[in-house]
Amino acid sequence: MIKKQQTDVSEVRLHGISGSPGICIGKAYLVDREGVDVIKKYSISRGKINNETNRFKNAVSKAKNELAAIINGLPSDLRQNAYILETHLLLLNDKMLHGKTVEIIKSEGVNAEWALKEASAHAKSIFSSIEDPYLKGRSADIEHVANRIMRNLVGFKDINISGINKRVILVADNLSPAETSQIQLEKIMAFITDHGGKASHTSIIARTFEIPAVMGLGTATQVIHNDDIIIVDGIEGLVIVHPEEETLFEYDERIKKYAAHKAEIMRTSDLQAKSADGKIFKVMGNIELPEEIVTVKDHGGDGIGLFRTEFLYMNRFDFPDEQELFEQYKEVVELMAPSLVTIRTLDINGDKEIYGAAKPKEANPALGLRAIRFCLKNPDIFKTQLRAILRAAAYGNVRLLIPMISGCEEIQSTYRLLDAIAIELERQALPYKRDIQVGIMIEVPSAAIIADTLAGLVDFFSIGTNDLVQYTLAVDRGNPHVDYLYNALHPAVIRLLKQVVDAGKKNHIKTFMCGEMAADVMNLPILLGLGIDELSMSPQSIPAIKNMIRKFAVSECRDFVAEALKKITADAVMKLIIDTYGDKLINEINTDKDGRRSHQNSH
Ligand code: PEP
Ligand code: MG
Repeated sequence: MIKKQQTDVSEVRLHGISGSPGICIGKAYLVDREGVDVIKKYSISRGKINNETNRFKNAVSKAKNELAAIINGLPSDLRQNAYILETHLLLLNDKMLHGKTVEIIKSEGVNAEWALKEASAHAKSIFSSIEDPYLKGRSADIEHVANRIMRNLVGFKDINISGINKRVILVADNLSPAETSQIQLEKIMAFITDHGGKASHTSIIARTFEIPAVMGLGTATQVIHNDDIIIVDGIEGLVIVHPEEETLFEYDERIKKYAAHKAEIMRTSDLQAKSADGKIFKVMGNIELPEEIVTVKDHGGDGIGLFRTEFLYMNRFDFPDEQELFEQYKEVVELMAPSLVTIRTLDINGDKEIYGAAKPKEANPALGLRAIRFCLKNPDIFKTQLRAILRAAAYGNVRLLIPMISGCEEIQSTYRLLDAIAIELERQALPYKRDIQVGIMIEVPSAAIIADTLAGLVDFFSIGTNDLVQYTLAVDRGNPHVDYLYNALHPAVIRLLKQVVDAGKKNHIKTFMCGEMAADVMNLPILLGLGIDELSMSPQSIPAIKNMIRKFAVSECRDFVAEALKKITADAVMKLIIDTYGDKLINEINTDKDGRRSHQNSH
């Protein structure tokens, strides 16, 4: 058992959003710190010294505004941490940091980043050499403050996180999908971030790799220091810093209980999911990279319901060529055969930026040149991918899935490209398969509204609730300030889902769901009752969902949905779920022996 750290600081509890379940105890590693370590020195000519000091001062004033906004926005139960942030505000003006940095820029003629790095190292060394433990601890605060200014100077993207070489709990302000995919995940015990929510890509990756995650903590990077012992409770969305001895003991017990619960549902995960009234459901896995297939298979996944191909395009300056893509897809397809692999075409931009893509500056990237829109504007990039997919399809069982469809034209344009590519491949005598199922993501409200029209054009629908909820409710899926509004059980979402499934049935096509709504057992009675034909999710959720499908009769769920559709709020829908199926469901998600309900509604 990990022992309490020798420190005078008392236990602090930070409440956030559960990003990925699981519990762990370990040492903190702050991503931000690396920002200081990778700074390069360069000279500034005499005539530009004033510009450089102004650049530094602007970065400081931006840091002040950021801190002030954090302090003002602190929820009441986090007020106890405000004093730390107020100290940081004072430190921003401190002579040792502010004055010294300006002095170094002027006297040495160097860039602001380098001067700040020197000044903060100097200030830290002074504090560290003081005997008084309180003042000694201020050196970490200097580091936080310097990092905040540094981030404003260098920009967020220059964080170095690829070289982490010990098992740590990663503490970050926020992580972009590109950053998350640079990390060696086997080194990460847990993720905790100040920003982000349950549908952010860090959460999704964490769930895929079964790494506990708590997001949207607001002040974690301010409160936590490198090497602090922390408990991450991804079930409750709770982080405990400097845990007391008894808290450590309690969590040791919980970790054991959680492991036993997981082992229990894993035992039956390879068996098919047959409902109590005999309907067999495929429960598939969502993957980002070929290596995740093992996780899907280990968790009893019946195939790949969503292969997010954009991750093969990230963290590089060029676009992958056809051969590279073909080899990766072929590997996935062959490893899964004869099971299905649903390859989704490139879904970049929005929150998934890639370096090489010429991207206009967009005020609202989520509503911008994303996914199919980007692909149709860049037909060479799109054709390269489609060629690789049709070629890989010759080696197994492939479905093609197009993201972010908002109308008929995008489907028609894609078909034209597919047909042209098939003619090319035929002429080149390369093995390929054109006769594969082509489906669309239903994740934009316009597509859900005209689902009856779109159903006539495609072979299947796959509902992406992560985005459908975001766009329907006008709630950014990664923004913790509006996370309370993000709810897949909102009556507007349930009505849209019904409309989509009904349109599919009328036109004899199947409707699947690959958004994270499918991964939450609490939603299952609704999804089964609506008539969703297949579910796909982060692999680690598969065993629990399969286990729960076996406990429900679809016919009964149908009646239940009729009742749910009468409810006027998401809370009322949740209450109905709990009142009707609470006994069945709560045991599944609660690892507490005292029966406390640890579930937060899904998204
Ligand atoms: C979705 O939007 O629900 C989805 C599955 O796609 P992504 O999370 O990759 O946007
Ligand atoms: Mg989506």
